[in-house]
Amino acid sequence: MKCSLKAPAKINLSLDVLAKREDGFHEVEMIMTEVDLADRIDLTSRRDQQIVIQTHAGYIPADRRNLAYQAASLLRERYRISAGVTIYIQKNIPVAAGLAGGSSDAAAVLRGLNQMWGLKLSKERLAELGSEIGSDIAFCVHGGTARATGRGEKIEHLPAPPACWVVLAKPPIGVSTADVYGRVQVTNPDPANTGSRAIEQAIRDEDYRQICTHLHNDLEQVTMKLYPEVGQIKERMLESGADAALMSGSGPTVFGLVNSEGKVHRVYNALRGFCDQVYAVRLIT
Ligand code: ATP
Repeated sequence: MKCSLKAPAKINLSLDVLAKREDGFHEVEMIMTEVDLADRIDLTSRRDQQIVIQTHAGYIPADRRNLAYQAASLLRERYRISAGVTIYIQKNIPVAAGLAGGSSDAAAVLRGLNQMWGLKLSKERLAELGSEIGSDIAFCVHGGTARATGRGEKIEHLPAPPACWVVLAKPPIGVSTADVYGRVQVTNPDPANTGSRAIEQAIRDEDYRQICTHLHNDLEQVTMKLYPEVGQIKERMLESGADAALMSGSGPTVFGLVNSEGKVHRVYNALRGFCDQVYAVRLIT
């Protein structure tokens, strides 16, 4: 049996760090949405009992360190499955970029194997299992647009934001999420008045301008201090005509929102001269 799935990248329209928890994680509030830049995952049944990762991308691990492997292994262990699977990952999403590429691969494996192995698990259950592996996997299982709280695993669906273009630019550095969270100053904001609440309202009002006004990420200053090129990319996005720009997740990818096709080319070209990994994509609405 064979099954192919898309594993889309996500961006954060907001990321508020609310508090540091006793378990070492941070309490966050994020508004996340998917873009149409995706990895492709092919699952093929095996006669033996192995989980085998295949990928052309030599820069990601092809063993149990791969989040896709961990997703298959967890599902097999919890539901006492003896079948094996080959997981082919066609990697298109930049790695260690703040775009949840690995989490999205893992979520696609959970969704695909749920079908292939006839487990009939709900999305909620798959998300719960996924969050044992990584905080962003719950969102990736659900997809769409959502508010994520807790350490990112509590998901509330939101309507899709208004359609627009997104230019993504990643400088040639990988950022450690743990390192960035380790350096963030928690300011204990009023939970009823966070940047995420403002973005949520703008989405519900279908107000593109207000979304642009309220883009917000508490980790942005931390990563920019470590890697000034992130700030330079953001400036260049804005100078070349993006309506708004923000770093996604813990970075270093910066995205710019643009609502006219004419301007997308200008922003894209302005960034191309500056970094190698630049993409012009759309929100999945
Ligand atoms: P997030 O936004 O969830 O923090 P990210 O986009 O910053 O994620 P990933 O691309 O998921 O980061 O990669 C983070 C690390 O995970 C990399 O160092 C990589 O080696 C490892 N990894 C494990 N499995 C995968 C996978 N399937 N795809 C990409 N990276 C993977």
